[in-house]
Amino acid sequence: HAKQSGRNAYRFFTEAMNVSTLERLTLQQRLHQALERQELVLYYQPQLDLASGRVVGVEALLRWRTPEGLVPPGKFIPLAEETGLIVPMGAWVIQEACRQARTWLDAGLPPMTMAVNLSALQFHRDNLLITVGDALSAASLPAASLELELTESILIQDAEATLATLKAMNAMGVLLSIDDFGTGYSSLAYLKRFTVDKLKIDQSFVRDITSDGDSAAIVRAVVQMASSLKLKTIAEGVETESQAAALRATGCDEVQGYLYARPMPAAECEAYLRGKA
Ligand code: C2E
Ligand code: MG
Ligand code: MG
Ligand code: MG
Repeated sequence: HAKQSGRNAYRFFTEAMNVSTLERLTLQQRLHQALERQELVLYYQPQLDLASGRVVGVEALLRWRTPEGLVPPGKFIPLAEETGLIVPMGAWVIQEACRQARTWLDAGLPPMTMAVNLSALQFHRDNLLITVGDALSAASLPAASLELELTESILIQDAEATLATLKAMNAMGVLLSIDDFGTGYSSLAYLKRFTVDKLKIDQSFVRDITSDGDSAAIVRAVVQMASSLKLKTIAEGVETESQAAALRATGCDEVQGYLYARPMPAAECEAYLRGKA
């Protein structure tokens, strides 16, 4: 009888819950084991100088390799943030990206920057300076080889602590960029307050640059402002030659997108980099 009612209780439980909640719980449990089971991998997407076509950097993008296939970050990063798991996960990303950058230097590939995404929680919870410093020294990597991609949401939180951390990053020599620029709260005041090196123009503006005059105007304005502030610009999500041409006309420095290369596993990216070298 106990077994029978147990089964009924279970059935009631599942029927009462919506599927996405159940899916989330399962994902959450499995995500906890992903790090120790070494199911996390980094893909790398090249970043090119628009004028010369040379690769000047790569962005590390996290993937979760499960038996059912590759899970994109949009599916698990929000969960990792909710559970705080993003902190150890993000530390692993920094270590692994630095290790890979060192491997490519040792293999004789031309020096380039390795860009890593940071989440707001990681920025405020973790002792990020120690994580970054340890990763750089473990890989014997110059600080200027590492670029940290910040989001606008990081910059609007806890301004004093953020400022102190960013200043320490500057002092270390690590490069800083603002990801998805133009989609957040877009207070331009933080460009004056925080020392960043590069703005990453969000792909939504790039997507519409050839069809929508407003997007084109926004890109032009961002590039001009960046140039006056001595910041570099990179356009994300470049998919077509006509987008590249429109970007070239604005004076944008760098490009990243499927037109040039998709995010790739390390070995494939290395082959691409050798082909371009
Ligand atoms: P993001 O940093 O803005 O990365 C750019 C995203 O655009 C990537 O998606 C990339 O695969 C995609 N992309 C690149 N070129 C193109 C293109 O030409 N067209 C289109 N439609 N998409 C393109 P992905 O890899 O799925 O990553 C999504 C987001 O997840 C990232 O956006 C970033 O915010 C976050 N993320 C990825 N890895 C990490 C990580 O290690 N830590 C943290 N905290 N967040 C990460
Ligand atoms: Mg990014
Ligand atoms: Mg972005
Ligand atoms: Mg994005």
